[in-house]
Amino acid sequence: MIQAPKVQDMKDLTRMERIGAHSHIRGLGLDDSLEARQVSQGMVGQMEARRSAGVILNMIKEGKIAGRAILIAGQPGTGKTAIAMGMAKALGDDTPFTMMAGSEIFSLEMSKTEALTQALRRSIGVRIKEEAEIIEGEVVEIEIERSVTSGAKAGKLILKTTEMETVYDLGAKMIEQLQREKVVAGDVITIDKASSKISKLGRSFARASDYDAMGAQARFVQCPEGELEKRKEVVHTVTLHEIDVINSRAQGFLALFAGDTGEIRSEVREQIDQRVAEWREEGKAEIVPGVLFIDEVHMLDIECFSFLNRAMESDAAPIIIMATNRGFAQIRGTKYRGAHGVPIDLLDRSLIIMTRPYTEEEIRSILKIRCEEEDVEMTEEALDLLTTIGLDTSLRYSIQLITTSSLVARKRKASEVDVPDVRRVYSLFIDLKRSQQYLKEYESEYMF
Ligand code: ATP
Repeated sequence: MIQAPKVQDMKDLTRMERIGAHSHIRGLGLDDSLEARQVSQGMVGQMEARRSAGVILNMIKEGKIAGRAILIAGQPGTGKTAIAMGMAKALGDDTPFTMMAGSEIFSLEMSKTEALTQALRRSIGVRIKEEAEIIEGEVVEIEIERSVTSGAKAGKLILKTTEMETVYDLGAKMIEQLQREKVVAGDVITIDKASSKISKLGRSFARASDYDAMGAQARFVQCPEGELEKRKEVVHTVTLHEIDVINSRAQGFLALFAGDTGEIRSEVREQIDQRVAEWREEGKAEIVPGVLFIDEVHMLDIECFSFLNRAMESDAAPIIIMATNRGFAQIRGTKYRGAHGVPIDLLDRSLIIMTRPYTEEEIRSILKIRCEEEDVEMTEEALDLLTTIGLDTSLRYSIQLITTSSLVARKRKASEVDVPDVRRVYSLFIDLKRSQQYLKEYESEYMF
């Protein structure tokens, strides 16, 4: 039987924490009318591209763009990945967002199409409505035992609802909750069956005199007539890929944590698709198309491109956002060259967003934001020098000099990075241009 993951199964599978190069990006930095603010939410400049990304984001939110592709094209280091991150942040946790690099699909463990299928299914959410059973009743008795040798606790709780008295076995977690809430006999509590969460509502007073004795400090809980078992609806979103893995006998639930899911049989997927379709018809689930971001898309080959073309036709396809820094390049697996190394039919169905090189002022702003993000104090003069280096070499190279120059500053026990620290790391670590010059000079001494 196809199993939907339960809330408690899934809650530990938090989204990958995004640290590192793009940790300063908190959104696209747009105002209400989707205009980009010059500097906002960690984003700087690249106004047109951010605005276009915002328009696409709105279409995604309105569910209007399933099965479409976006291509972000521009020179290296012009913020293509940063814009994709901004979109992911703006979409929020409930919309699946998968990031991968084109080169990741070439693995010995699984075929290219399996890797792409997994990536696509990771990017499709299923919002499942689940019934949570909550039992409410009056505590008749609590009995807790403690092991003398191990100190472990176990116990029993007798709960009276209008219909009957039920005995519950108590584990350590439940005992802890009972003690924290100071639950005693006579209290009215609720137990959430799915999570074993106990909440104390108050005391039950059988006689009016009890109530009078407690005065207004106590909340009067009347055991309602009739039904005491309440049903509450909870909603959670999982991805199709998570449902695949949990139901794949070869892999099982733990594979999700290990990240090593291997290939999933197509019969399993067919059954799951069918079951999800039934859930949708019964109103128990809805599909949330998410985003699949493929960086370095020119690394895919013609087989992958035609697979993606076909996958986009499916009615539950995610939005595919691709990025590339290539101009005209060979389309892998063919002898042809094409714009961005992407075949014409895929380009034709894509909306293309261009990113452009940064101005001096924009580089300075990005470097300043990165200094704050990395907790590095820097003098204005050092920041000016780093900006000039960024203009002359690349934004990425100058960003890398922030941490390294702060280490040099720390070594001389200074709290602020100054010009000599930047100069020092500039001479220690060479950039691409100098590396090429050096290679040209000493070419004959290298192996080829
Ligand atoms: P490549 O083509 O080499 O993959 P890219 O276009 O994806 O490059 P990013 O990785 O997004 O470039 O940018 C390089 C660095 O500069 C990252 O740390 C990124 O977060 C930062 N960055 C780039 N553009 C912006 C921007 N507009 N605002 C803030 N930070 C930015």
